[in-house]
Amino acid sequence: MKLFAIRGGIHPEYRKELASDKAITALPMPQRLRILLHQHIGAPARLLVAAGERVLKGQMIAQGQGPVSAPAHAPTSGYIESVSEVTAPHASGLAQTAVVLVPDGKEEWAPLPTPLADPLTAEPQLIRDLVAQAGIVGMGGAAFPSVVKLHLGTQRKLEMLVLNGAECEPYLTCDDRVMREHPDEVIDGARIMAHALGAPLVIIGIEDNKPEALEAMTREAAAFPEVQVRPVPVQYPMGSERHLVQALTGRETPAAKLTADIGAVVHNVATAQAIHHAVRFGRPLIERVVTVSGRAVREPRNILAPIGAPVTALIDFCGGLVGVPARLVQGGPMMGQPLPSLDVPVIKGTSGILALNAEETGEAEAGPCIRCGTCVAICPCGLVPLEMAAFIRTDNLDGANNLGVTECLSCGSCSWACPSHIPLVQYFNYAKGMLKTKERDRTKHERTKTLTEAHRDRLERAAAAKAAAAAAKATTKGTPPAARQPRAEEPAEA
Ligand code: SF4
Ligand code: SF4
Repeated sequence: MKLFAIRGGIHPEYRKELASDKAITALPMPQRLRILLHQHIGAPARLLVAAGERVLKGQMIAQGQGPVSAPAHAPTSGYIESVSEVTAPHASGLAQTAVVLVPDGKEEWAPLPTPLADPLTAEPQLIRDLVAQAGIVGMGGAAFPSVVKLHLGTQRKLEMLVLNGAECEPYLTCDDRVMREHPDEVIDGARIMAHALGAPLVIIGIEDNKPEALEAMTREAAAFPEVQVRPVPVQYPMGSERHLVQALTGRETPAAKLTADIGAVVHNVATAQAIHHAVRFGRPLIERVVTVSGRAVREPRNILAPIGAPVTALIDFCGGLVGVPARLVQGGPMMGQPLPSLDVPVIKGTSGILALNAEETGEAEAGPCIRCGTCVAICPCGLVPLEMAAFIRTDNLDGANNLGVTECLSCGSCSWACPSHIPLVQYFNYAKGMLKTKERDRTKHERTKTLTEAHRDRLERAAAAKAAAAAAKATTKGTPPAARQPRAEEPAEA
């Protein structure tokens, strides 16, 4: 089957061998879980429980609010110890609200939503309802509520669901293990999603450095003619939605458009497995597979962890750390979030926890730009990183915006390749954050201006109406009432 070249890209060191042969193992239930209310892109969930309450496994403890949001559920039965602020797994180290749950060891399930007997012929809205209730978000790291993406087929004609099994980040092997160990569940989830989307075809793209996953998925897909499993070359960032679709179909997604606009919706393989559980069994998203790796981890492995488990518990399960890590990351080393500490909980988007030693991070002092053009050649989005960085350095955000900084994927390829070790992606993340804030402020300012103008117009109209009424009254006072006209049938006075 034909593949298409994608622009730019790099080949960072593989490092998947640290955990790729480690089968998924369940983490023993920790003594305490801290389940964040806000684990996804969109509005935080609204709290449904209070301290002292007993909850059951799978019970909804926070409800999604608004069109882009997702509920959170109790990963096991137990007691709510508190609702507290805890350090979020984010570079900022800011605190976020979490439900602190002390497991009671009983694993007693709450009543679950009724699963669909035959999802592949069911009304698509029933699938979307179950996915929404299960709190499923994109598990490749983006954490976008999945139900929103499953609605895309109601607005557009879709040709295919593309399942992202590329897992192009170095170190991460959780998707690889899910595909090797549960190909039936992944393919079933994909077929259910394709049905909900109205897409007649499923293409599963897997980087060709995962031969076992390719083999297992191909074997499992053989029974379904509408499902194709395709190897894609190892080329970071192949896991980016736009690039995966381009490699598989040759179609390029225009700037500021979605892949859905060119007929393809992309979901991650672990998301497909979660959707299989939600639709076939009514199970909410309460656990996920996390790769714990890096040379500062004694025994890297793939762990099935309950959402809310302390990252320290996962590290302990791997035999602890070897020395002090030079860098802690949630996700992959290229696009992941630096972690402020290990004292943070696992969330739905936690694909990996990496503890890297100094040799692995290879961080070096940044030098001046030598205008070698490497960053331009490798940017998969066709951007000009050196020029954008120059604008940002002189605080000319509009200049960077004109060069398309908001199109930057934050893939980190340019920083990785820069011989002067300039942290280019950090400039772009900063600029994107500032431009977003500016845009928000501008919208707020415009809204305030519109409201002020509307208020002023209202006052002026009210004043004009009052003046007109006063003038009418004054005229009426000084004028005798008009003589009554006789009715037609009345005799006229002689
Ligand atoms: S790769 Fe680095 S040194 Fe080369 S042009 Fe880009 S910013 Fe400058
Ligand atoms: S981080 Fe942005 S600018 Fe740099 S290579 Fe990736 S997409 Fe291009």
